[in-house]
Amino acid sequence: MEMLYSSTRSNEKKVKASEAIIKGLSEDGGLFAPHHIPALDKSLKELADMTYQQVAYEVMKLYLTDYTEQELKSCIEKAYDSKFDEESIVPLAEADGAYYMELFHGPTIAFKDMALSILPHLMILAARKNQVKKEIVILTATSGDTGKAALAGFADVEGTRIIVFYPKNGVSPIQEKQMVTQKGKNTLVVGIHGNFDDAQTGVKKLFADSGLEAELAGKGFQFSSANSINIGRLVPQICYYVYAYGRLLGEGKLAEGEKLNVVVPTGNFGNILAAFYAKCMGLPIGKLICASNENKVLYDFFRTGTYDRNRKFVLTSSPSMDILVSSNLERLIYRLAGGDAARNREMMAALNGQGSYEITEEMQEGLSDFYGNYASEQETAAEIKRLYEDCGYVLDPHTAVASAVYRKYVEETGDTGKTVIASTASPFKFTRSVMHAIDGKYDNMEDFALVDALSGLAGVKVPRAIEEIRTAPVLHRKECEVDGMKDVVKEFLGVKCEKKF
Ligand SMILES: *Cc1c(COP(=O)(O)O)cnc(C)c1O
Repeated sequence: MEMLYSSTRSNEKKVKASEAIIKGLSEDGGLFAPHHIPALDKSLKELADMTYQQVAYEVMKLYLTDYTEQELKSCIEKAYDSKFDEESIVPLAEADGAYYMELFHGPTIAFKDMALSILPHLMILAARKNQVKKEIVILTATSGDTGKAALAGFADVEGTRIIVFYPKNGVSPIQEKQMVTQKGKNTLVVGIHGNFDDAQTGVKKLFADSGLEAELAGKGFQFSSANSINIGRLVPQICYYVYAYGRLLGEGKLAEGEKLNVVVPTGNFGNILAAFYAKCMGLPIGKLICASNENKVLYDFFRTGTYDRNRKFVLTSSPSMDILVSSNLERLIYRLAGGDAARNREMMAALNGQGSYEITEEMQEGLSDFYGNYASEQETAAEIKRLYEDCGYVLDPHTAVASAVYRKYVEETGDTGKTVIASTASPFKFTRSVMHAIDGKYDNMEDFALVDALSGLAGVKVPRAIEEIRTAPVLHRKECEVDGMKDVVKEFLGVKCEKKF
């Protein structure tokens, strides 16, 4: 059956998957949502025997119905290859009674690689399918990990350019070094003087700027998004939940149909939304445990039914979760509202205006699949230290937030059912915070000495992605104010600027 997508803010127009991927965001500011959630058409037993690539095909074919079998398989082969340092693509590590699903074995050692290694391939095909002759300009706001993963995916891809905005003082030193050393003639990396929400809001504004759109169209450019709002990011993320279930079933660690809880360290709500879609597809998922850091908007939302971004933004050791506006939550709200786009639009308008909205009691009942909690900075550091000392397993701070929240969940509910924790980054990406959590004595060491110390401690080889940036030259030094983002874009694309630099 053909899968169509419509905006979460108006049901009028339906588009095919490839069109939704090219556009990224709907013209009305809404997100493209699938019309229905398809059911898995392979049994759990069959899935248990499949490789990652095979599972990925079985999931993606249900959503990306205007891609042929051969096209999808070729995208999958190109994406999940030796760029990953594990043949299984997503290994599961067992520690302290839970399964850590390691999503960080791709080229930039964060889970964003899971989707961003395939998105460029899907997008080039989408352009072809939709007779798009213009050059595609990927515009991205990043809290650190998306930026590098998108740069790695799109660098030197013909017919594309990529511009990444990151909060100048809001990412880890390794994350920044990874981005500013990015090669590729079609890449631009810019540090903005603001936080991630400023960057994300700025990018959304550029997308909604119809004057700019016309001006760029005249020069042969068209924007698209590699942010997690793109359906081409969301769909590939569903695959690893299905794969993990199959693996555990195949290894006899789960009985067929046994419920599996999933814990996700959450920022923009993309990863956990993918788990929710997997559950709606029929995968036996128990609770969806949404873990936040001290920016605990989602925790408060799950408790009260009110989403309120009016609060202080906290910079934490898990920067990819330092987010007050979780964009992908809109897709869940839309679903809870029964696909009522007008109602969703009102709530999003309230979020834009007064900074908050409230869902109805009825909608709140639909949230019973979820459990939300958060971990403070101290609890996060303590979890890193505890797991290292007890099991010799080293977590990055994002995964540690999830792990700490999982302990709270078990304590609060007594639910000791099988659980998978999404492990979203390699500890090598956040070496300083990780080593500090383990022992204050490491605080005086410089970044790459710390990397070597971590390698010794964890008994893990330094990942290729880190080795590469040790000596790589800085190629991007541009910075701008939040209101200067538009000019930066125009300058890079050679379109006339309003301001001189
Ligand atoms: C992006 C990211 C997250 C948050 O994922 P969302 O899909 O935005 O909720 C968590 N951890 C790491 C390491 C990330 O890069």
